[in-house]
Amino acid sequence: MGELEGKVALVTGAGTGIGHAIASRFGHEGARVAVNYRGNAEPAERLASELTEAGARSIAVQADVSKSAEVGAMVQRVVSELGPVTVLVNNAGIEEAAPFLELDEESWNRVLAVNLTGAFLCAQACGRVMREAGGGAIVNISSVHEDLPFLENTAYCAAKGGLRMLMRNAAVELAEFGIRVNNIAPGPIATPINREALEDPETLALLRRVVPLARWGEPEEVAEVALFLASDRSAYVTGATYSVDGGLVRHTEPV
Ligand code: NAD
Repeated sequence: MGELEGKVALVTGAGTGIGHAIASRFGHEGARVAVNYRGNAEPAERLASELTEAGARSIAVQADVSKSAEVGAMVQRVVSELGPVTVLVNNAGIEEAAPFLELDEESWNRVLAVNLTGAFLCAQACGRVMREAGGGAIVNISSVHEDLPFLENTAYCAAKGGLRMLMRNAAVELAEFGIRVNNIAPGPIATPINREALEDPETLALLRRVVPLARWGEPEEVAEVALFLASDRSAYVTGATYSVDGGLVRHTEPV
Protein backbone atom coordinates (compact mmCIF):
# COMPACT_ATOMS: atom_id res chain seq x y z
CA MET A 1 0.00 0.00 0.00
CA GLY A 2 1.31 3.46 -0.94
CA GLU A 3 1.17 6.24 1.62
CA LEU A 4 -1.37 8.25 -0.39
CA GLU A 5 -3.63 5.38 -1.45
CA GLY A 6 -7.21 6.65 -1.87
CA LYS A 7 -6.21 10.33 -2.09
CA VAL A 8 -6.73 12.64 -5.06
CA ALA A 9 -3.95 15.20 -5.45
CA LEU A 10 -3.73 18.33 -7.59
CA VAL A 11 -0.20 19.67 -8.07
CA THR A 12 0.11 23.02 -9.84
CA GLY A 13 2.99 23.87 -12.17
CA ALA A 14 3.89 20.18 -12.24
CA GLY A 15 5.33 19.91 -15.76
CA THR A 16 8.83 20.79 -14.47
CA GLY A 17 11.04 21.07 -11.41
CA ILE A 18 9.74 20.68 -7.87
CA GLY A 19 6.09 20.23 -8.92
CA HIS A 20 7.05 17.43 -11.31
CA ALA A 21 8.99 15.63 -8.56
CA ILE A 22 6.07 15.99 -6.14
CA ALA A 23 3.44 14.77 -8.62
CA SER A 24 5.64 11.81 -9.51
CA ARG A 25 6.29 10.89 -5.88
CA PHE A 26 2.60 11.20 -4.97
CA GLY A 27 1.56 9.01 -7.92
CA HIS A 28 4.07 6.32 -6.96
CA GLU A 29 2.59 6.43 -3.44
CA GLY A 30 -0.83 5.52 -4.82
CA ALA A 31 -2.53 8.94 -5.16
CA ARG A 32 -4.62 9.73 -8.21
CA VAL A 33 -2.74 12.80 -9.43
CA ALA A 34 -3.78 15.79 -11.54
CA VAL A 35 -0.65 17.25 -13.12
CA ASN A 36 -1.36 20.94 -13.77
CA TYR A 37 0.66 22.85 -16.35
CA ARG A 38 0.54 26.09 -18.27
CA GLY A 39 2.11 26.18 -21.71
CA ASN A 40 4.04 23.09 -22.83
CA ALA A 41 1.73 20.07 -22.36
CA GLU A 42 4.27 17.37 -23.25
CA PRO A 43 6.08 16.80 -19.90
CA ALA A 44 2.81 16.88 -17.95
CA GLU A 45 1.10 14.46 -20.37
CA ARG A 46 4.11 12.15 -20.25
CA LEU A 47 4.13 12.09 -16.43
CA ALA A 48 0.37 11.46 -16.29
CA SER A 49 0.76 8.50 -18.70
CA GLU A 50 3.69 7.07 -16.71
CA LEU A 51 1.73 7.27 -13.46
CA THR A 52 -1.38 5.74 -15.00
CA GLU A 53 0.75 2.86 -16.33
CA ALA A 54 2.31 2.45 -12.88
CA GLY A 55 -1.15 1.87 -11.41
CA ALA A 56 -2.92 5.03 -10.16
CA ARG A 57 -4.99 7.04 -12.62
CA SER A 58 -3.48 10.41 -13.48
CA ILE A 59 -4.42 13.26 -15.83
CA ALA A 60 -2.65 16.36 -17.13
CA VAL A 61 -4.75 19.53 -16.80
CA GLN A 62 -3.99 22.86 -18.33
CA ALA A 63 -4.83 26.04 -16.39
CA ASP A 64 -3.28 29.37 -15.62
CA VAL A 65 -3.59 29.42 -11.82
CA SER A 66 -3.88 33.21 -11.80
CA LYS A 67 -7.24 33.07 -13.66
CA SER A 68 -10.19 32.17 -11.47
CA ALA A 69 -12.31 30.80 -14.35
CA GLU A 70 -9.48 28.46 -15.42
CA VAL A 71 -8.92 27.33 -11.83
CA GLY A 72 -12.66 26.64 -11.42
CA ALA A 73 -12.79 24.59 -14.64
CA MET A 74 -9.61 22.69 -13.68
CA VAL A 75 -10.90 21.71 -10.24
CA GLN A 76 -14.26 20.64 -11.70
CA ARG A 77 -12.51 18.44 -14.25
CA VAL A 78 -10.26 16.86 -11.62
CA VAL A 79 -13.25 16.09 -9.39
CA SER A 80 -15.24 14.57 -12.24
CA GLU A 81 -12.35 12.48 -13.64
CA LEU A 82 -10.40 11.52 -10.49
CA GLY A 83 -12.78 12.23 -7.59
CA PRO A 84 -12.90 14.88 -4.83
CA VAL A 85 -9.52 16.59 -4.38
CA THR A 86 -8.11 15.81 -0.92
CA VAL A 87 -4.54 17.07 -1.47
CA LEU A 88 -3.55 20.36 -3.12
CA VAL A 89 0.04 21.43 -3.72
CA ASN A 90 0.31 25.10 -4.67
CA ASN A 91 3.64 24.94 -6.46
CA ALA A 92 3.28 27.11 -9.61
CA GLY A 93 5.53 30.14 -9.40
CA ILE A 94 7.54 32.66 -11.39
CA GLU A 95 10.48 34.96 -10.70
CA GLU A 96 11.02 38.35 -12.37
CA ALA A 97 14.04 40.27 -11.10
CA ALA A 98 14.29 44.06 -11.08
CA PRO A 99 15.89 46.61 -8.78
CA PHE A 100 13.26 48.07 -6.46
CA LEU A 101 13.26 51.52 -8.06
CA GLU A 102 12.95 50.04 -11.57
CA LEU A 103 10.29 47.39 -10.82
CA ASP A 104 7.29 48.15 -13.01
CA GLU A 105 3.67 47.66 -12.06
CA GLU A 106 3.02 45.00 -14.74
CA SER A 107 5.85 42.82 -13.45
CA TRP A 108 4.73 43.30 -9.83
CA ASN A 109 1.18 42.30 -10.83
CA ARG A 110 2.32 39.23 -12.82
CA VAL A 111 4.40 37.84 -9.95
CA LEU A 112 1.71 38.49 -7.32
CA ALA A 113 -0.98 37.06 -9.62
CA VAL A 114 0.74 33.68 -10.06
CA ASN A 115 2.61 33.23 -6.78
CA LEU A 116 -0.01 34.55 -4.36
CA THR A 117 -3.42 35.02 -6.02
CA GLY A 118 -2.97 31.68 -7.82
CA ALA A 119 -2.39 29.90 -4.52
CA PHE A 120 -5.44 31.62 -3.02
CA LEU A 121 -7.72 30.70 -5.94
CA CYS A 122 -6.63 27.05 -5.91
CA ALA A 123 -6.84 26.79 -2.11
CA GLN A 124 -10.33 28.26 -2.08
CA ALA A 125 -11.66 26.10 -4.93
CA CYS A 126 -10.09 22.91 -3.53
CA GLY A 127 -10.90 23.89 0.07
CA ARG A 128 -14.61 23.91 -0.81
CA VAL A 129 -14.29 20.41 -2.27
CA MET A 130 -12.28 19.22 0.77
CA ARG A 131 -14.92 20.57 3.15
CA GLU A 132 -17.54 18.44 1.38
CA ALA A 133 -15.16 15.45 1.37
CA GLY A 134 -14.59 15.74 5.14
CA GLY A 135 -11.00 17.03 5.06
CA GLY A 136 -7.76 17.39 3.18
CA ALA A 137 -4.25 18.78 3.11
CA ILE A 138 -2.98 21.91 1.37
CA VAL A 139 0.78 22.33 0.91
CA ASN A 140 2.15 25.60 -0.45
CA ILE A 141 5.63 25.76 -1.92
CA SER A 142 6.73 29.14 -0.63
CA SER A 143 10.46 29.85 -0.28
CA VAL A 144 13.12 30.86 2.22
CA HIS A 145 12.04 34.25 0.84
CA GLU A 146 8.82 34.05 2.83
CA ASP A 147 11.22 35.38 5.50
CA LEU A 148 14.52 36.41 3.92
CA PRO A 149 14.96 39.40 1.63
CA PHE A 150 16.10 38.57 -1.93
CA LEU A 151 17.80 41.51 -3.61
CA GLU A 152 16.04 42.80 -6.73
CA ASN A 153 13.11 40.42 -6.15
CA THR A 154 10.69 42.49 -4.09
CA ALA A 155 7.58 41.19 -5.86
CA TYR A 156 8.69 37.57 -5.34
CA CYS A 157 9.40 38.18 -1.63
CA ALA A 158 6.11 40.04 -1.15
CA ALA A 159 4.25 37.13 -2.75
CA LYS A 160 6.03 34.45 -0.72
CA GLY A 161 5.66 36.48 2.50
CA GLY A 162 1.96 36.82 1.64
CA LEU A 163 1.78 33.06 1.12
CA ARG A 164 3.10 32.57 4.65
CA MET A 165 0.18 34.55 6.12
CA LEU A 166 -2.34 33.03 3.68
CA MET A 167 -1.22 29.64 5.03
CA ARG A 168 -1.47 30.68 8.69
CA ASN A 169 -4.94 32.18 8.33
CA ALA A 170 -6.27 29.32 6.23
CA ALA A 171 -4.83 26.77 8.69
CA VAL A 172 -6.80 28.32 11.55
CA GLU A 173 -10.03 28.89 9.60
CA LEU A 174 -10.11 25.52 7.85
CA ALA A 175 -9.13 23.36 10.82
CA GLU A 176 -12.78 22.83 11.74
CA PHE A 177 -13.31 21.15 8.36
CA GLY A 178 -10.38 18.78 8.86
CA ILE A 179 -8.27 20.69 6.34
CA ARG A 180 -4.59 21.14 7.23
CA VAL A 181 -2.51 23.88 5.58
CA ASN A 182 1.29 24.04 5.64
CA ASN A 183 4.16 25.60 3.71
CA ILE A 184 7.44 24.25 2.48
CA ALA A 185 10.18 26.88 2.22
CA PRO A 186 12.85 25.58 -0.17
CA GLY A 187 16.30 27.09 -0.40
CA PRO A 188 18.32 26.77 -3.63
CA ILE A 189 17.01 23.75 -5.55
CA ALA A 190 18.37 22.58 -8.90
CA THR A 191 15.41 23.29 -11.21
CA PRO A 192 14.70 25.25 -14.41
CA ILE A 193 13.86 28.41 -12.41
CA ASN A 194 17.61 28.56 -11.59
CA ARG A 195 18.82 27.49 -15.05
CA GLU A 196 21.38 30.31 -15.38
CA ALA A 197 22.68 30.05 -11.80
CA LEU A 198 23.14 26.27 -12.12
CA GLU A 199 25.89 26.80 -14.69
CA ASP A 200 27.57 29.64 -12.79
CA PRO A 201 30.68 28.76 -10.72
CA GLU A 202 30.33 31.97 -8.67
CA THR A 203 26.84 30.93 -7.55
CA LEU A 204 28.16 27.53 -6.53
CA ALA A 205 30.95 29.16 -4.52
CA LEU A 206 28.38 31.42 -2.82
CA LEU A 207 26.15 28.44 -2.01
CA ARG A 208 29.08 26.60 -0.49
CA ARG A 209 29.65 29.59 1.78
CA VAL A 210 26.06 30.35 2.87
CA VAL A 211 24.34 26.94 2.79
CA PRO A 212 25.59 24.85 5.74
CA LEU A 213 25.03 21.61 3.74
CA ALA A 214 27.07 23.29 0.96
CA ARG A 215 25.21 22.18 -2.20
CA TRP A 216 22.10 22.62 -4.33
CA GLY A 217 19.04 20.75 -3.11
CA GLU A 218 17.22 18.31 -5.40
CA PRO A 219 13.50 18.52 -6.27
CA GLU A 220 13.05 14.99 -4.86
CA GLU A 221 14.22 16.27 -1.46
CA VAL A 222 11.37 18.78 -1.47
CA ALA A 223 8.95 16.07 -2.62
CA GLU A 224 9.89 13.95 0.41
CA VAL A 225 8.66 16.65 2.81
CA ALA A 226 5.58 17.34 0.66
CA LEU A 227 4.72 13.64 0.93
CA PHE A 228 4.89 13.84 4.72
CA LEU A 229 2.70 16.97 4.83
CA ALA A 230 0.15 15.47 2.40
CA SER A 231 -0.07 12.15 4.22
CA ASP A 232 -1.91 11.21 7.40
CA ARG A 233 1.47 10.86 9.13
CA SER A 234 1.32 14.65 9.64
CA ALA A 235 -2.25 14.55 11.01
CA TYR A 236 -1.42 16.95 13.89
CA VAL A 237 0.63 19.39 11.76
CA THR A 238 -1.02 22.57 10.51
CA GLY A 239 -0.06 26.23 10.23
CA ALA A 240 3.65 25.37 9.93
CA THR A 241 6.46 26.20 7.53
CA TYR A 242 9.00 23.45 6.91
CA SER A 243 12.40 24.64 5.65
CA VAL A 244 14.09 22.46 3.01
CA ASP A 245 17.12 24.65 2.50
CA GLY A 246 20.28 22.89 3.64
CA GLY A 247 20.28 25.17 6.68
CA LEU A 248 20.40 28.43 4.68
CA VAL A 249 18.11 30.39 6.99
CA ARG A 250 20.35 29.45 9.93
CA HIS A 251 23.53 30.60 8.19
CA THR A 252 25.58 33.03 10.20
CA GLU A 253 29.06 34.50 9.92
CA PRO A 254 31.27 35.59 12.78
CA VAL A 255 31.01 39.29 13.63
P1 NAD B 1 10.06 25.74 -12.37
O1 NAD B 1 10.18 26.98 -13.17
O2 NAD B 1 10.55 24.46 -12.94
O3 NAD B 1 8.55 25.50 -11.91
C1 NAD B 1 7.54 26.46 -11.92
C2 NAD B 1 6.36 25.87 -12.67
O4 NAD B 1 5.22 26.73 -12.52
C3 NAD B 1 6.64 25.71 -14.17
O5 NAD B 1 6.27 24.41 -14.57
C4 NAD B 1 5.71 26.75 -14.81
O6 NAD B 1 5.26 26.38 -16.09
C5 NAD B 1 4.58 26.79 -13.80
N1 NAD B 1 3.78 28.00 -13.88
C6 NAD B 1 4.22 29.28 -13.98
N2 NAD B 1 3.18 30.11 -14.06
C7 NAD B 1 2.06 29.34 -14.02
C8 NAD B 1 0.68 29.62 -14.05
N3 NAD B 1 0.24 30.90 -14.18
N4 NAD B 1 -0.20 28.61 -13.97
C9 NAD B 1 0.23 27.32 -13.86
N5 NAD B 1 1.54 27.00 -13.83
C10 NAD B 1 2.43 28.00 -13.91
O7 NAD B 1 10.82 26.05 -11.02
P2 NAD B 1 10.73 25.33 -9.58
O8 NAD B 1 11.99 25.68 -8.89
O9 NAD B 1 10.33 23.93 -9.69
O10 NAD B 1 9.57 26.19 -8.86
C11 NAD B 1 8.47 25.60 -8.21
C12 NAD B 1 8.10 26.44 -6.99
O11 NAD B 1 9.16 26.37 -6.05
C13 NAD B 1 7.89 27.91 -7.30
O12 NAD B 1 6.77 28.39 -6.57
C14 NAD B 1 9.15 28.57 -6.78
O13 NAD B 1 8.95 29.90 -6.39
C15 NAD B 1 9.45 27.66 -5.59
N6 NAD B 1 10.83 27.72 -5.14
C16 NAD B 1 11.86 27.28 -5.92
C17 NAD B 1 13.16 27.35 -5.43
C18 NAD B 1 14.33 26.89 -6.25
O14 NAD B 1 15.48 27.18 -5.88
N7 NAD B 1 14.16 26.16 -7.33
C19 NAD B 1 13.41 27.87 -4.17
C20 NAD B 1 12.34 28.30 -3.40
C21 NAD B 1 11.06 28.22 -3.89
